[in-house]
Amino acid sequence: MREPLYLQPRLEPPLSSLLAAPDLLHTLVDALGSPLNVLLPDRIAENAERFRAVYRRHHLGGRISFAHKANRSSALLRRLAVTDPAAVGVDVASLSELQHALGCGFTPDRITATGPKDPAFLWLAARSGVTVHPDSVTELEQLAELVRKFALPRIAAVPRLSGFETGTGTGAATGTGTGASGVKVLSRRSRFGTPVGEVGALLDTLERHRDAVEPVGVAYHLDTTGLAEKAVALESCVGVMDELRARGLDPRFVDIGGGFGVSYVQDAAQWDRYTTELAGAVLGTRPAMTWRGHGYGLRNEGGTLRGALGLYPAHRPTAGPGYLDALLSAPAPASGRPPATLLLEHLYDLSIQPGRALLDQCGAVLARVLDVRPTGSGDHLVRLGLNAGDMSLEEHGVIVDPVLLPHGGGGGGVQDADDGPVTVHLFGNLCLEADLITRRTVFLPRLPRVGDLLAFANTAGYAMDFHAHSAQRQPLARTVAVTRDGGSWRWCLDEEYWPITRPGGPA
Ligand SMILES: *Cc1c(COP(=O)(O)O)cnc(C)c1O
Repeated sequence: MREPLYLQPRLEPPLSSLLAAPDLLHTLVDALGSPLNVLLPDRIAENAERFRAVYRRHHLGGRISFAHKANRSSALLRRLAVTDPAAVGVDVASLSELQHALGCGFTPDRITATGPKDPAFLWLAARSGVTVHPDSVTELEQLAELVRKFALPRIAAVPRLSGFETGTGTGAATGTGTGASGVKVLSRRSRFGTPVGEVGALLDTLERHRDAVEPVGVAYHLDTTGLAEKAVALESCVGVMDELRARGLDPRFVDIGGGFGVSYVQDAAQWDRYTTELAGAVLGTRPAMTWRGHGYGLRNEGGTLRGALGLYPAHRPTAGPGYLDALLSAPAPASGRPPATLLLEHLYDLSIQPGRALLDQCGAVLARVLDVRPTGSGDHLVRLGLNAGDMSLEEHGVIVDPVLLPHGGGGGGVQDADDGPVTVHLFGNLCLEADLITRRTVFLPRLPRVGDLLAFANTAGYAMDFHAHSAQRQPLARTVAVTRDGGSWRWCLDEEYWPITRPGGPA
């Protein structure tokens, strides 16, 4: 067999120790079915604390709000609700998420409502007194109208901005500069937020409605990994904050959204090698590495590599709190000042809304192996008790290697012809050719057997329930919350988790 191209997951405690407890995980899947989502609520609190440490290092104040949309869990929200209320909040993007956050113990001052809002969502946000991020001037007007119509207290508002650029030109704003020094950096166009070019009308509206709406900050959220692009946006926001002040308003913080990222693969060399070999496979200089030669955005045009690798980088040298640190520390393109200094000089606080990054190492999706069969070309097809909706990172990235949890416990010890690295294709439980869990040819240290479990680690962010559906009436995964109790584990259904002190309980 050719040399294995592993993409081994980055695993940290407590997830690493949980995956070393296969008996418990097998018992849970036996009882609750496959697929099963497993969450570690204590880890999200730890992640929030790691972001706090970056704030402290830069002497910055302000709040870290979890972008709820990345995971539906109640346990995660309830666990976060008992962290420092001044430091940690939640960001909701639908009526139901708002109701959920209130029901999980977040007081309105810790909740922000973002995204485009339907009338019911806007009404409950205004009525309960959460902070609202108006997505447009129109939404701001609607908010002011609600406040007057229902005689509500003044609402804290944080208008969302977009369409940032440095320099003087009025380019087409389609570029995505990522750090070339001295070069104009344009941020990609967003469907959300008020373009900075139209900020005059926004400021006028805020001034006109100052009796109903209190602008407490300005916000952006950019769906990019580019640091320079984000630094430009941050600088622009500080400028808009200053303009608000000049108009006699009192904004206090810049909210820089999410997108801090997660590193999924431990070993940078594995990822580098993988992407290099993938290019080779697309060009035909090495055997295929994907199901039916899928190129993840790359293609072979007459022997030339074209397209672009459309993959979220599975290994990232800086991600999560480290990425925030880098963003705050590097000189920003327009002012040449590090964003942290800029904020401190203007006496502004910093708000962030991490989704994926707060869920780093917070859970895994477990699936039972239902069938294993050889293809005749040396590979095996492995059919699992879950489908592509239950484990969906594949739209933006690759799913890294699952962890094999052998049936009958222990692991290892089994010696037969199946031992040694194998290549498999992972299929789901739908009667659909396209139900691939990943298009990647996956290398495993040994062939799975029927009854084994595969654990897709570090999938709490967007993968485990974001695209889940009940096509063909296949079961939706249940979700359990697992906590460490001295030397052993405790678990309960996600909805049964409350962070109440009990003998050996969480918090
Ligand atoms: C989705 C979203 C986030 C979270 O993004 P991550 O990449 O998960 O950190 C934050 N803010 C807004 C407005 C969002 O839409």
